[in-house]
Formats: sequence, C-alpha cells, structure tokens
Amino acid sequence: MSVTDKLLKVFLVDKQLRGLQSRLRAAEKFLSDQTGSLQQIESKKAALETQLRQLTAATSERQGEMARLDEKLKTVKERMDAAQTNKEYKAFLTEMNGFKEARDKVETEALEQMGKIDELKKQLAEMTTQRDDRQKVAKVADDDRSKRAAEIKDRLDELTKERATLAAEIPKEPLKTFELLIRARGDDAMAQIEIQDRKRHEYNCGSCMMSIPVETISSVLGSGRLTTCVSCGCILYVTEADAKSLQEPAGGKGKSRSSSAG
Ligand SMILES: [Zn+2]
Repeated sequence: MSVTDKLLKVFLVDKQLRGLQSRLRAAEKFLSDQTGSLQQIESKKAALETQLRQLTAATSERQGEMARLDEKLKTVKERMDAAQTNKEYKAFLTEMNGFKEARDKVETEALEQMGKIDELKKQLAEMTTQRDDRQKVAKVADDDRSKRAAEIKDRLDELTKERATLAAEIPKEPLKTFELLIRARGDDAMAQIEIQDRKRHEYNCGSCMMSIPVETISSVLGSGRLTTCVSCGCILYVTEADAKSLQEPAGGKGKSRSSSAG
C-alpha cells in the first residue's frame, strides 16, 4: 500500500473524529454561553442587593432621626404648654417650628428612599426570575453536553486507537506534512482527483476544482508518493476504482493483472 493510500485511511478516520468532536464542541459552546450569561445576571443581582442593603440602612437612619425629632417636639410642646410668658411661649414656638421643618425634610427623604427600595425590590425580583430561567437552560445545556460526550466516548476511543495504529505505519515526513495540512485546511487536506474526461486527459482537484496535468496523475498512480495540488496544496489521491480504470488504456481492453480481474 502506498503512503498516499495509508494517509487517506488516516484522513478518513480524522474526518470522522472531527465530525464527532464538532457536535460536542457545539454543545460545549452553548453551555459556556449560558454559564457566561448566568454569571452576568448573578453580578447584576449582587449589585442590586448591595444597593438595596445600603438604601435600607439609610432609610432606617432617617427613621431614627425622625424618632429623635419627635422626642424633641414632644419636649418643646410640654415646655410650651408650661410657658409663663408670651415671650417664652414664642421662643418655644420658634424652636418647635424648626424641629417640625427638620422632621418634614427627613421624612421626605425617607419616603423617597422607600420608593427607591420598592423599585429595587421589583428589579431584584425580575433578576431572580431571569436567573432561575437561565439556570434551567444552563442545566439542560450541561446535561446535553454530558450526554453527547458519553454518546461519542466509545466511538472516539475506538477511532483514536485506529488512528494511532494507522499513523504508526506512515513514515515521519509525509505524516508531518499531512498533519500540517490538516491544521491548515481541515477536511480539505486531501482531495480526490476527479476524472472529467479520460480520453482528453481532463482531470481536476476535488478540493479547488483546478485542472491537474496528466503527469500528476502518473505520479500519484505510479510511485504512490505524496503528490500535492499545485493550486491549493492539498494531497491528491485517486480512488481504488479510478486507479484501476486509469491503469488500463483509455477505451481499450485492460492489461489485466490477476488481481484486477472482476
Ligand atoms: Zn487543488
């Protein structure tokens, strides 16, 4: 078996491996998108919770302040009631009005804060719903990923072993060339030579579709050494059936060898 034939076997196994892994990668990508989005929601939620805590503390400070002012108002009111002179009474009244004004201001602030607290609580509830929904999606995505990983595991192990066995048969240099091509071109690392018109010697590369000179065909068929497409650089091969027909004279009877009979 020629190096090209051996590489083709590795190539076909690699293709299956990539196909299997790409389905798993899609599931992994979806899962990581969900996890990322979940983290964003969690951090927004945490920020809202911090705001809510701060605002709640500020509101209770205002309420404390109001209680203190109420206490002062009560005292002044008592003193006012016990006032002996008109002057004294007026002085307490001024003081009382001052406290009342301060209390109104603090109360207004407290009410504003409570309004904000209600708003924050609403946002937080919505964020919690979003988080719960996203968690459900992430859970499904995680299950799906695990399921896919489990589904392909045996086949993946099998193919990986098969690939190692096949690759061990191939000399270092061509294998290296092949692997570089795989990295650069993936499924287009190797391409079949397509026969357009045998009699007119018209062939083309199955990857880039550019025509291939007949010498290239001879090179692939004859030596079986690595032959690349001059246009796209992929490793060219011919299928077994094509090789058989190409080795017979065009339109003529085959120079039949015992192995090619059938
Ligand atoms: Zn090509």
